[in-house]
Amino acid sequence: MAIRKIVHYGTPSLREPSKEVHKVSKKITELVRDLMDTMYAQNGVGLAAPQIGENVRVFVIDVSTGNEPLNPMVFINPKIIKKSGAVKSNEGCLSFPEAYTDVKRYKNIMVKALNEHGKPFVLEAKDGSLLARAIQHENDHLDGVLFIDHCINRFETEEVLKKHNLPSLDPDLLVDEKELEEEIAKND
Ligand code: ZN
Repeated sequence: MAIRKIVHYGTPSLREPSKEVHKVSKKITELVRDLMDTMYAQNGVGLAAPQIGENVRVFVIDVSTGNEPLNPMVFINPKIIKKSGAVKSNEGCLSFPEAYTDVKRYKNIMVKALNEHGKPFVLEAKDGSLLARAIQHENDHLDGVLFIDHCINRFETEEVLKKHNLPSLDPDLLVDEKELEEEIAKND
């Protein structure tokens, strides 16, 4: 168990796609524990392996708040198999200290993955819940995609990054998601 150093935006490995896990070995179990320790130490809602410099397809999430008992969830080789609806989500990321911006997310998702014992499971997260949004955020990390790539307002996001001394947006990496954009604009 160890609290690991979180890599920040600007580190090239955050943009690299991560490798599938072939076996939930002791090494993976240890990685999961380190992810948990690091996430809790930073009061994060989720943390993906590339954020601690390991480009493998693993992330952890805990959306429990304040008085609730801890409820850590582990996702190994996750795949989002269904998605629908759209929501505006104000997000931050432990790799972007103190920088928050509004992004586009699907409202409902279904994800399949392996748990920390290597057992497959399917989970549905709906209504733009924190869990639904966190799964999309963390899953993106495994493909080198970052929350700012989904930003609603490019210029506002650019300002936020500048204010926190973070590198600027890469316009070529912005995700084209017209349907989400239109639906969010309709609901606004
Ligand atoms: Zn993140």
